[in-house]
Amino acid sequence: MKERLYKPSVMREVLGRHGFHFSKSLGQNFLIDGSVLDRIAEGAELSEEDVVLEVGPGIGVLTQVLCERAGRVVAVEIDRGLLPVLDETLSEYSNVEVVLGDILRLDLPQLFEEKFAGKQVKVVANLPYYITTPIIMNFFEKKLPVERIVVMVQKEVADRMQAVPSTKAYGTLSIAVQYYAEAKIVTTVSAGSFFPPPNVDSAVIALIRREKPAVDVKDEDLFFRVVKAAFAQRRKTLPNTLSSTMGVAKDLLREALAKAEIDPMRRGESLSLEEFGRLADAIGEVLA
Ligand code: SAM
Repeated sequence: MKERLYKPSVMREVLGRHGFHFSKSLGQNFLIDGSVLDRIAEGAELSEEDVVLEVGPGIGVLTQVLCERAGRVVAVEIDRGLLPVLDETLSEYSNVEVVLGDILRLDLPQLFEEKFAGKQVKVVANLPYYITTPIIMNFFEKKLPVERIVVMVQKEVADRMQAVPSTKAYGTLSIAVQYYAEAKIVTTVSAGSFFPPPNVDSAVIALIRREKPAVDVKDEDLFFRVVKAAFAQRRKTLPNTLSSTMGVAKDLLREALAKAEIDPMRRGESLSLEEFGRLADAIGEVLA
């Protein structure tokens, strides 16, 4: 990396020369902190064997670091205006390909097949915060060959992803993420590490895909329906929130809770993933 692109003076010069204007709606806050770039790369545990999908390369600050540490990088960027900038900032790397597209609309199974031919992929991204969660869940739910996702998120979202039962941050996102992956905060990041600075504190989180989901459930859809229903009215006991949200009679729910050996006075926010798994299977049985 000859040019230290993350340095604000260098970044301003490059952006000025290309007449680039930041788009707030695309969440364009570029990293200007070399130590955060290092921490992201370390969180991804990159080696030359690795293939990386970067989402939202921006002007290529993080992409350069990824190209230096991984075998190959495919970067998907939505903003056509950044393509000439990336052409220049990535010109010295032969192991990178930039794809113009919206990660939420691309046919991901096809992209993975075309670009990675079934190999396990590491996803690295610093994205607009409002689309980070749908993107992560999409990778997991579509069962794509993703072994690890290292992503910058709002600090509060990172806390929710790694939260444990009976804490304020514990909820459907904690369970959805932990069902598929082990979540670890790599580093917290202050607003001053970005240009322009965002209004929130951020954190880099590593989601390490489990070989198989954390709990073995009979019906995945029912499991997630039960989880959602249990948190829909977090202050209510399980029979109350599950009956009103799922439309299942309370006596059937009490029967299912007894089968699952879960006290009916408990609230959903106190249940572990394993207990949710047992409960969903028991509800499936009583409804059969
Ligand atoms: N990775 C760069 C960095 O760390 O400095 C840029 C990060 S910036 C927060 C987010 C980038 O994602 C922008 O370049 C933006 O244009 C791009 N982006 C936003 N929405 C996207 C989408 N749906 N698909 C692909 N890229 C997107």
